[in-house]
Amino acid sequence: MSSRTKNIETFDEVLALCKSYLSKEESISFITRAYEFAREKHEGQFRKTGEPYIIHLINVAYYLAELQVGPSTIAAGFLHDTIEDCGVKKTELAAAFNEDVATLVEAVSKVSQLSYKTEEEFQAENHRKIFIAMAKDIRVIIIKLADRLHNMRTLYAQPLEKQKKIAKETLEVYAPIAHRLGINTIKSELEDLSLKYLEADKYYYIASLLSQKENERFRTIEVMSTRIETLLKEQNIPFKLSGRVKSIYSIYKKMYLKERRFEEIYDLQALRIITDTDTHCYEILGHIHAAYRPIPGRFKDYIAMPKPNLYQSLHTTLVGDDGNIFEIQIRTKLMDDVAEAGVAAHWRYKENVSYDPAAEQKQIEERLHWFRELVSISNEEEQSSTAKEYMESLRKDIFEANVYILTPKGRVIDLPNGATPLDFAYKIHTEIGHRTIGAVVNGVLVPLSTVLKTGDVVDIRTSKTTAIPNEDWLKIVKTNYARNHIKKALMRYNNQQRREEIIAMGRNILEEHLNNDKALIRQVLKRMDDKKFLQSVNFEDIDTLFVAVANKSTNIGNIVDRALNDEDLKKEKVVTPFAKEKTRERNANKMGVLVPGIDSVAISFSQCCSPIPGDKIVGYISKGQGMKIHRADCPNIKAEEKRLLPVEWDYDYVAEHSTLHYADIQIRARERNGLLVEILNLMSQLKVSVNSVNSYKHDTTFTAIVQLCIQVYDLSHLNEVCTAIHTNVNGIQAVTRFSRN
Ligand code: MN
Repeated sequence: MSSRTKNIETFDEVLALCKSYLSKEESISFITRAYEFAREKHEGQFRKTGEPYIIHLINVAYYLAELQVGPSTIAAGFLHDTIEDCGVKKTELAAAFNEDVATLVEAVSKVSQLSYKTEEEFQAENHRKIFIAMAKDIRVIIIKLADRLHNMRTLYAQPLEKQKKIAKETLEVYAPIAHRLGINTIKSELEDLSLKYLEADKYYYIASLLSQKENERFRTIEVMSTRIETLLKEQNIPFKLSGRVKSIYSIYKKMYLKERRFEEIYDLQALRIITDTDTHCYEILGHIHAAYRPIPGRFKDYIAMPKPNLYQSLHTTLVGDDGNIFEIQIRTKLMDDVAEAGVAAHWRYKENVSYDPAAEQKQIEERLHWFRELVSISNEEEQSSTAKEYMESLRKDIFEANVYILTPKGRVIDLPNGATPLDFAYKIHTEIGHRTIGAVVNGVLVPLSTVLKTGDVVDIRTSKTTAIPNEDWLKIVKTNYARNHIKKALMRYNNQQRREEIIAMGRNILEEHLNNDKALIRQVLKRMDDKKFLQSVNFEDIDTLFVAVANKSTNIGNIVDRALNDEDLKKEKVVTPFAKEKTRERNANKMGVLVPGIDSVAISFSQCCSPIPGDKIVGYISKGQGMKIHRADCPNIKAEEKRLLPVEWDYDYVAEHSTLHYADIQIRARERNGLLVEILNLMSQLKVSVNSVNSYKHDTTFTAIVQLCIQVYDLSHLNEVCTAIHTNVNGIQAVTRFSRN
């Protein structure tokens, strides 16, 4: 990649580079056709620099070939401006080349249309769109990076205002993504060029500082190189040494963002040692540390723990001869390729292996988990949050993630500076985040607000029962990812709580509508909580009905009327309508009992078993008191068979007069407060008069016995009352008739 600084002027240069890694004739002719197509379409167009447009395309294709991408990507590099600048249709490209190339060019055009063409206030929105458009295919990103690199190199030809816009976008969008993809050569150049246009004074100041002592530094490096060369040659380890130029932008960051003096920047003088194997890397490190004093806290092992952009290397800083401070990077050749070309080095085009963009995209998402995150937040955020929030998420959670934390199983999770165990938990899985109750860092239980450091091993303790985040966590978490998920979960939870409140409100409205008549409320509720009934009034469930009642979107009166007039309810007839409607007179003379063969006899009902129409009855002749009517099964008359006369109810008379009769019932129930009151309320609601009440409880069995003497018309009326008690009062065990002794 030494050619970075030179401008490519001919297609032959591109072709030569392509031939260095592409041997198939069809690949070369495909690329050649793309070049010729582009040259023809852009014929007569010129860049602001005065060069023919094709020069731009030749350079873009050349950068792509340097990254050793496949023929389709190089072809798309040549064609990337044909839709935008020459009005070529996607279908035309598909016909002339193939669907893959056409789709690539279309995607790149979409990104181009978004680039630096909007006003300041829409920039966040636009940057988001650019990321979203690029996240779908890694090749689109790489083509855009190559395109942007050439545009930045020729930015001097643009008007001042446009220079600033393009430079700002490059620094905010393209450089971070190049960094995250590990394409460091492009990243560094994009940053330096951006700085040059955005903060020219600082750029040139740093450049002058660098050149002032350039000779001195060069000499120091040379001396150090020789010393190290000698050292390693003795050990018989293969190696290659090179000096490293620190980028102006990285010095700018240290000086202006971290406020260090130029002299305090340690790695101005740096050496890179490239060897063949991982083991040799560590061996070299050992020899160097034996010969020079390393500065504590400056050693970094990115071989054991690669950066999220797959970068691997050993870094150490040491005090060299004459007190000069050096940064040394030790890595293998493969690692060095990755350090320069990043993702592109990993997924270099392989001939004779059929290329599947979807498969590669998937592979990249697997290897670069941040990329998967980019894709996922891009998809998610497309619908929800604002562009500003999206850019914030990207910046914080992805581009600035530089703390590497380990799971107990050794998986590396990258988080931004200041991240806490909660950020870690949410990054592993949203559900784990919600359920977090504690964190063990390096074997010690720590507060959830603990700031994590690179190399920490974090084990999250979760709750099995609750999955609701704590509102205070919003103050603790550092990543937008965690914050957004906490907010969403709390909102869901609050909505749920709110809904429950609304349901309760609807229920209250119903109860008030029914004058807080508990028995009636129970009956109506029972009716309402029935699938068929709910269907008939178009509600999915009773809660939804209550919500509608609370919102006044349905009329409670209508619903209650329908519930009370429901056919099934009528059959149950718990609220006895005729009790309200009919007025009854008690016939004192006739009792509604037929005594065969006897016309007139004084008849009364026995008080021990209180018979009612519907009961089997017998007549008992008592001395001087006429005839007492008993139930046929009354235990008190069992021994008196001789004095019994067969009698029966006069049902015509009963039907006509609807006379009330006393009936004794006994209720056995689970003992609890308010039981008796509830039963009496129910009787009153049923319009049943209660003549006497007797109640007692069995302390050992927690059972209550309530005996009532009530007035009913007949056996079926009594049965209704008994059923009503069963269904309306909680804890009823039995309701039976009983006889007094
Ligand atoms: Mn272009």
